Amino acid sequence: MNSLNNVGQQPIPQQAKIQINPNDLPTIPCKNEDCKKEVYIQTFVFKRVSKIISQTGKEQIVSAVTFVCAGCGLGFGKEPVEVKK
Ligand SMILES: [Zn+2]
Repeated sequence: MNSLNNVGQQPIPQQAKIQINPNDLPTIPCKNEDCKKEVYIQTFVFKRVSKIISQTGKEQIVSAVTFVCAGCGLGFGKEPVEVKK
């Protein structure tokens, strides 16, 4: 049984793993040149799984998480669609 009196006698060995501070890493901006915002909103898309490939033999709906730019709504990593004028 551990006694509280022993706490602090031996230093807890530090695990040898690299601490990554996300604040030190480069932020990936929106690919829309007119936007370039660096924040994204978590959204969902819903996919229809046809009964042909569904494991249950019935049509299913599955959800997938996507991220869209908080500024212009462009999907993360997506190239902006060129608007023809
Ligand atoms: Zn954007």
